[in-house]
Amino acid sequence: MNNKRIRNVVIVGGGTAGWMTAAAMSKLLDRDIKVRLIESDEISTVGVGEATIPMIKLFNQALDLDENDFLKFTKGTFKLGIEFVNWGNIGESYMHGFGEIGRHLGVLDFYHYWLRAHMTSPAGSVPDLQQFSLNNVAAKMDRFMRAANPATIPPELGPNSPLTRIANAFHFDAGLYARYLRHYAEARGVERIEGKIVDTVLREPDGFIDAVVMENGTRIDGEFFIDCSGFRGLLIEQALHAGFDDWSHWLPCDRAIALPTESVAPPRPYTQSIAHGAGWQWRIPLQHRVGNGHVFSSRFMSEDEAAAILLKNVEGKPIAEPRTLRFTTGKRKKGWVKNCVAIGLASGFMEPLESTSIHMVQSAIARLFSLFPDRDFVQADIDEYNLLTDYEAERIRDFLILHYKATRRDDTPFWNYCRTMEVPEALARKIALFESNGRIFRDTDDLFAVVSLLQVMQGQGIKPQRYHPMTHTLSEADNREFMRVQKAMVDQAAAAMPTHAEYIARQCKAG
Ligand SMILES: Cc1cc2nc3c(=O)[nH]c(=O)nc-3n(C[C@H](O)[C@H](O)[C@H](O)COP(=O)(O)OP(=O)(O)OC[C@H]3O[C@@H](n4cnc5c(N)ncnc54)[C@H](O)[C@@H]3O)c2cc1C
Repeated sequence: MNNKRIRNVVIVGGGTAGWMTAAAMSKLLDRDIKVRLIESDEISTVGVGEATIPMIKLFNQALDLDENDFLKFTKGTFKLGIEFVNWGNIGESYMHGFGEIGRHLGVLDFYHYWLRAHMTSPAGSVPDLQQFSLNNVAAKMDRFMRAANPATIPPELGPNSPLTRIANAFHFDAGLYARYLRHYAEARGVERIEGKIVDTVLREPDGFIDAVVMENGTRIDGEFFIDCSGFRGLLIEQALHAGFDDWSHWLPCDRAIALPTESVAPPRPYTQSIAHGAGWQWRIPLQHRVGNGHVFSSRFMSEDEAAAILLKNVEGKPIAEPRTLRFTTGKRKKGWVKNCVAIGLASGFMEPLESTSIHMVQSAIARLFSLFPDRDFVQADIDEYNLLTDYEAERIRDFLILHYKATRRDDTPFWNYCRTMEVPEALARKIALFESNGRIFRDTDDLFAVVSLLQVMQGQGIKPQRYHPMTHTLSEADNREFMRVQKAMVDQAAAAMPTHAEYIARQCKAG
């Protein structure tokens, strides 16, 4: 029996990160561990994290949440991917869809065969790579359904239909998601403490956190502190001075103006990311409104200009005043210091381009559980946590940088800077490999799959010089037939799907 078990956890902050952590702890930790969450109504949450990636389904499953109930409560919609407009060049667009593109054959992924067909056929005779992704085709037709059970697939589509492998994420109101998880966590024993923390008490002589002090003088003692206080990093930075790795030379956007608008059409089953002169704009369709924002670099554009561009490019009437958020892209040098782990924006932020922040909250929680300490706080565990956290963050960082680097835009100083900047060596290697041979390798445990890298590299105009020689296991004619069959399967599947709006009405319409 370990008599050094932690019994008293204090979570500081009640944004998405705080309540996700509290909910997971309430479900997965022993009931005899006291979990308290402190939040201040005076200090608002960021509240604009509205788009997610498919891994969030695993988090919701771990909590046994009813997915339709969660979507009704958070006024959520379904997400099949992200459409990138004006990124490769002005007037171009492509989708980064979740899930597969075509079916692999033998030892090679589908895209090698596609590349060969594309490179050896007359221009325009082979459909775009995008056309072989059910997610992408369905998204552009405003259709959606969850992955089907093979037993329910109509016989004419066959048990191998891509309908059985649809991957999806969600768009939702992040404030409502935090509230939903709050109900969940409180019902399972998490105690919420309202008020503002004004001081942190460190223990002598090792500098571990003993307690936080509230504005009314109350002292909240804890053995283990989770810092979910947002950008300010109340514990991890202000008290423990973890330090910050600034990545703004690679990810130069440092401001976002958020502006919700009325919906003017049924919700699209995908996020839109529209590049402008010094950044990009998001459109995230929810059931009751559309979330919009303009992420930009203040080095290259004034706030007034960014606001004007956003207002000009929203589709519906604004329903709130524009709100500006400031950030520096990067991460804490150490996410876990002594008896404090930072989760969420307190641990760093890399801008919302691929909707990764909420996922990083989820993966930090999973890492924390797998390395959950006792009161000895073994340094080897802490080091491992920090190593794994950095590994994840650096790979996501490189994927985001790819979007800025792989552009042909030369219309503004911002895009000239991005196009010509030096990128991390690992990313430069990936780009060079794809350019030479169309080959892509995913680093172990990389969040984004080969098809993600493929869609962005291909979508933004990086053209491989050769195709894979092993595709010659198929004759030219057989390769063309392979393309035809794959495309037909995607088209039949998309035609069998309901519209996104119909699916929501049937499954999870908010009241
Ligand atoms: C512009 C923008 C767009 C984004 N879009 C997405 C997206 O599409 N998808 C995605 O996954 N993520 C997105 N994110 C990130 C996402 O919003 C955050 O990861 C998520 O909301 C978690 O925030 P948080 O809980 O860490 O911090 P916050 O929301 O800032 O919460 C901090 C909490 O700490 C409390 N607090 C702070 N100081 C004190 C104190 N002294 N005393 C008591 N309480 C205190 C506050 O009251 C609050 O409850 C976006 C972020 C930004 C900035």
